[in-house]
Amino acid sequence: MEDCLFCKIVAGDIPSTKVYEDDKVYAFNDIEPQAPIHIIIVPKMHISSSNELTDDNAEVIGHIFAVAAKIAKEKGFAEKGWRIVNNCGEDGGQTVGHIHFHLLAGRNLGWPPG
Ligand code: AMP
Ligand code: ZN
Repeated sequence: MEDCLFCKIVAGDIPSTKVYEDDKVYAFNDIEPQAPIHIIIVPKMHISSSNELTDDNAEVIGHIFAVAAKIAKEKGFAEKGWRIVNNCGEDGGQTVGHIHFHLLAGRNLGWPPG
């Protein structure tokens, strides 16, 4: 995807602070953190939003949650707790058209959000 910000970050064409990478996913620090820990996890494959998920491409989402749990343990916030957020579409607050998951931790996160 030529004009996709997160595809460019995955490709290294736009700099990011890498937190985790494997053959399927890439995780990096959010540029405008909303919590002491705010990591964005994306599939390397371009999927525009959760609206585009099907049984053919959704396997990577389970992997993303496993990666989040791994990061939580490694960074030491697993026990305190954390949150994953996926914004989908305009009303969902999505601003980047490449599916991504916000991993938030390091403070007591309010509920309900937004
Ligand atoms: P969303 O509003 O759910 O689409 O989330 C997009 C997120 O990407 C926001 O939290 C932004 O702060 C973050 N973001 C935008 N550009 C960059 C960038 N160049 N590097 C890291 N995070 C970014
Ligand atoms: Zn993309």
